Amino acid sequence: MQQSLLSGIIKVVREERMVTMKLVFCGACHEVTGSCYYIEACNKKILVDYGLEQGVNVYESGKVPVPLSDIDYVFLTHAHIDHSGKLPLLAAEGFNGRIFSTVATMNLCGIMLQDSAHIQEVEAEWDNRKRRRAGKVEIPPLYTVEDALSILNNFEGYRYGEIISVCDGIQIRFIDAGHLLGSASIEIYLTENGVTKKLLFSGDIGNTDRPLIRNPMPASDADYIIMESTYGDREHGMVPDYVKSLSNVIRRTFERGGNVVIPSFAVGRTQEMLYYMRQIKDDPKNRDLGDFPVYLDSPLAIEATGIYEESANREYFDEEALSLLEKGIDPIKFSGLNLSITSEQSKEINFNEEPKVIISASGMCDAGRIKHHLKHNLWRPECTILFVGYQANGTLGRALTEGCKQVKIFGDEIDVEAEICQLSGLSAHADVNGLKNWISNIERKPERVFVCHGEDTVCDAFADRLSYEMNLNAMAPYPYASIDIGTGIILTEGNREKIKKKEKSSIVSPKSPYGRLLLAMKRLETVVKHNEGGANKDLAKFTDQLIALCDKWDRLGLIIS
Ligand SMILES: [Zn+2]
Repeated sequence: MQQSLLSGIIKVVREERMVTMKLVFCGACHEVTGSCYYIEACNKKILVDYGLEQGVNVYESGKVPVPLSDIDYVFLTHAHIDHSGKLPLLAAEGFNGRIFSTVATMNLCGIMLQDSAHIQEVEAEWDNRKRRRAGKVEIPPLYTVEDALSILNNFEGYRYGEIISVCDGIQIRFIDAGHLLGSASIEIYLTENGVTKKLLFSGDIGNTDRPLIRNPMPASDADYIIMESTYGDREHGMVPDYVKSLSNVIRRTFERGGNVVIPSFAVGRTQEMLYYMRQIKDDPKNRDLGDFPVYLDSPLAIEATGIYEESANREYFDEEALSLLEKGIDPIKFSGLNLSITSEQSKEINFNEEPKVIISASGMCDAGRIKHHLKHNLWRPECTILFVGYQANGTLGRALTEGCKQVKIFGDEIDVEAEICQLSGLSAHADVNGLKNWISNIERKPERVFVCHGEDTVCDAFADRLSYEMNLNAMAPYPYASIDIGTGIILTEGNREKIKKKEKSSIVSPKSPYGRLLLAMKRLETVVKHNEGGANKDLAKFTDQLIALCDKWDRLGLIIS
């Protein structure tokens, strides 16, 4: 491995002088998050996406190979944080360039980057409290709300299909990717010394027949295609009737006198839920449900819904949503919809007894106001918690969907008595067939297809499929892989080395506080054994004391039983 890395580096040194147009793969290589690509062409330094890494980190992302203050342009596919979330860092590092996106992406970034910065600040403050107690040096947040506000001044919003002359030799065009409001694939035309090369970055490719937004536009011919592969090994299966499933859940919960609580991602999924709620209310078959109240309780979701409502962003809607608007029907508003902006409004929701639908964030229940609603509704057998999105490993949402019977929320143990159900099949990403359809439209074979934005084995498997089933020259690059755009020569192979998991030392000094605790644990085991055959009353008392101790000191604090 080291040898191949080294040979790649040697190769780059030999050929650097000739290379004038270069593409470097930085993030989302053999991973799903942290999208980032670096391009050098026409004497300009360009980033395509600059996203945050989220969740488990398998490979160290490639660093942007130049100082961030030297970047001239950013071409942004869409507003999701794993594509846009590092942009405020540019502001912090003195970036003075231009960020190109669609108008809707620019508007969504206006709220999402501030939200992300707020989370960074809060998390840093939590860490620093611990650091202060331990006498350690404080660490500043990755970026601040001020950085997020500052970077918004560098955005320029464009429409789909518009050819944008960025500078001499560089043109770009945003094509609808059907994944999120304003999401785009980006065509980039680079001309140097009379040679023009076209790159097509897929961005995240949407699923078909989603509410509000259009289906993804298929790929166009390009010299190099860089595409995502999130579901490159999976099919979504039959599309269920969401409106019917949802109305059934609401009906049976209301008949029990309970609330339907929906943990939902604030941007995209929440607006889809509002669309379905309006459909339920518009359908005469659901008259028995009456004009039931729906509470939207997430400041970010409310702001995002406001952006969907702005007329400038309605040009991104699909035909169905536009025809509703023409008839004077707002696709995501209906009578009985209540927006809870302040925390007082949020608290009042659980004060009234009337059965209701509560949509709140975060979608995986690990933060935000949803935790309050779970605390108030989980223990009530008449209520339902309805999951409408992916639940990552280790989250409260995952624990609930896996059937745990008791959870700890804000330090309180809550029995799970409510009905837990999932509306499956809702995905903002194309499945393996959708991805193949997207690229099957091309007439001219690209020089190469680079498969990114997929889990380690998934992007390799999808690249193999493209090679064997569609006869394309496909590969899944690793971080730091780079190519000469002019010739197509691979300059560096990239770093295949996985991040080593830190192995905790098993040697603990018996004099350290933790070492003493381990010794006490051994003694406890011995003491337990000494009590074998003791009186039932004594054993029960001892057991209760041990359980109380465990409950008090369990630092995971999530699930007990
Ligand atoms: Zn996305």
